[in-house]
Amino acid sequence: MHTSDFKIASNRTQRHRVINLQTKIFNTSEQDLVEASELIKGGGTLAFPTETVYGLGADATSNIAVAKIYQAKGRPSFNPLIIHCFSIDQIKAFALWSSEAQVAADKFWPGPLTMVLPLLPESNISSLALAGLQTVAVRIPEHPIAQKILKLSNTPLAAPSANPSGTVSATKAEHVISRLSGKIEGIISGKASKIGLESTIISLLNEASILRYGAIEAAEISDVLGINLKKPEQDEKISAPGQLSSHYAPRGSIRLNSKTIKENEVHLGFGEVDSDLNLSKTENLIEAAANLFDFLHKLDEMGAEKIAVSPIPEEGIGIAINDRLRRAAAPR
Ligand code: AMP
Ligand code: MG
Repeated sequence: MHTSDFKIASNRTQRHRVINLQTKIFNTSEQDLVEASELIKGGGTLAFPTETVYGLGADATSNIAVAKIYQAKGRPSFNPLIIHCFSIDQIKAFALWSSEAQVAADKFWPGPLTMVLPLLPESNISSLALAGLQTVAVRIPEHPIAQKILKLSNTPLAAPSANPSGTVSATKAEHVISRLSGKIEGIISGKASKIGLESTIISLLNEASILRYGAIEAAEISDVLGINLKKPEQDEKISAPGQLSSHYAPRGSIRLNSKTIKENEVHLGFGEVDSDLNLSKTENLIEAAANLFDFLHKLDEMGAEKIAVSPIPEEGIGIAINDRLRRAAAPR
């Protein structure tokens, strides 16, 4: 076998390897929480209790760490994730704060309210966590364990609900242990989540509006802000606002599954191919997911009008990558 043959063979094995991690179960002692936060600092995924439901958190500034969240949940598509913080100052480093946001925060934070704000140009939040958007959903949770983990990790955490995609949110540590063991690095085994319902999401971008109904009543938020929160359009799915029009797509047209590249095309490669940008030379799907949105933005910066994309295996997180690319390739 040639060295290069061997390289490809071992890459294939790596790609098809069933991910089976050693999941550490932590209690809520000071020492365990310190150890658990080390997993986050090392780029791992950690499930922890919040007052709404259990969250599956990872360092929101790392594309690779965030890719592991999607991989563990088996999400077939990329939704922007809520970024959890322990202070407003921490949020101000990456999101545009406003007096309206301050009023809502004074009343409802820490707690089950999520606000969508404009992203600052100097933001270091992972483009994968934002699904490529220039806006960001933020929340300061109230739960003491969540707060402790946020402080010890000392980084914003991207954290969707800690359940496999398509199953109900986990409100107890046992739910998480039975469904995500072997897929994530750690689980903090705390008490059951008090609220058991997701956070309410409001957008404070142009017109203040409600994006998801949740733990805090929309009417109460309207009262506090002194405005009528705009309701979602009838045909919009309230449960998944991130899947709507707001999704990022590059300007150029996209041709998928391209094995040969035409002269006027920019090549977004995958695997050992000569290309303008390569999602992962070693066919590592987590790396490819981590690069995806940064590369889509780069293609715009390059002024790419026609983009040819190498075939990407329809397995694991590759399913979400292909979903994103298919949406970007659809006629607009
Ligand atoms: P989860 O983290 O599973 O509770 O889901 C988070 C929800 O927040 C998803 O439905 C997203 O679509 C929504 N979301 C997150 N970021 C944004 C954003 N920038 N704009 C609109 N919706 C968002
Ligand atoms: Mg969820």
